[in-house]
Amino acid sequence: MKPITELIQQTTVIGDGGYLIELERRGYVDSGSGREQVGTGRGSGQFTPEVAIEQPDALRELHREFLNAGAQVLQALTFFGTREKLGRAGYGSQVEEINSAAVKLAKEVAGDKALVAGSVSRTQLVEREGMDSLGRARDHISEQIRLLKDAGVDFLILETFFHLAEMKVALEAAAESGLPAVATMSFRPLVTQCSDGHTPADCARVMADLGAIAVGANCEQDPARMLPLLREMRGAVKVPLAAQPAAFRTTDECHSFTRLPEFPDDLESIQISRQAFRDFGKIARSEGIGFAGGCCGCNAAYIRSLARAAHP
Ligand SMILES: [Zn+2]
Repeated sequence: MKPITELIQQTTVIGDGGYLIELERRGYVDSGSGREQVGTGRGSGQFTPEVAIEQPDALRELHREFLNAGAQVLQALTFFGTREKLGRAGYGSQVEEINSAAVKLAKEVAGDKALVAGSVSRTQLVEREGMDSLGRARDHISEQIRLLKDAGVDFLILETFFHLAEMKVALEAAAESGLPAVATMSFRPLVTQCSDGHTPADCARVMADLGAIAVGANCEQDPARMLPLLREMRGAVKVPLAAQPAAFRTTDECHSFTRLPEFPDDLESIQISRQAFRDFGKIARSEGIGFAGGCCGCNAAYIRSLARAAHP
């Protein structure tokens, strides 16, 4: 495989789909909803990646499905894998073990057929404790990036950041590691601005200035709802765009599925068809999106539709 920095300049690189929601459906990941109001910022906010050490076969199988569907990049399941988040979910003493096991599994399945990205997401400290916690968020993210680098990832995907301020410290930590980083923000409750009040265009400019090799958005919206914000970013930067939409329908009043009452236990009722990812694949190709994958709700069928349309 060519390095991501070359590949992304030449083609639409196909990513993989969403791991935690799919593995939750299969019975291997805890949504937390049995004991707390998920998404309130008060509980553990579960959806953590301990499946990498507790049920490695389930994770290995999902990696294989995405690879067979056409993914050129497999993301190690290290989403929500900082010491802060894992600690709150009761896995604080297994941070190293979980991160290194997740990378090892992804590399084993990828072989020489796909690149392996380390997934790094927000810590949730900023949502809970405000901007004063940014220094600690930075330390947690730096620690995780060091673990991912030691485990041998090819590059980083910084994703599902709500605050541009936290994305900035993550990009600084990525730059210190020397690993290339794709950077995608998540916009909610509307696509017009992120949680600390910046427009998609401003986010794109800041992320590109801090060295991201591709910038864009992931999660929360289906492709059609995400497209206007991607086009706004396109007008603001020269670097390739990256997009990993969710496969859930949102409303005109609320553009984020995690803020809808269907999250997390009634998501089947807002699931969109894989055809939306076929349409998105065509657009990714015609508009030159550099990295296109899926997020929550996208299993291999969605990635296959996307891959076939982007690379007919
Ligand atoms: Zn997602």
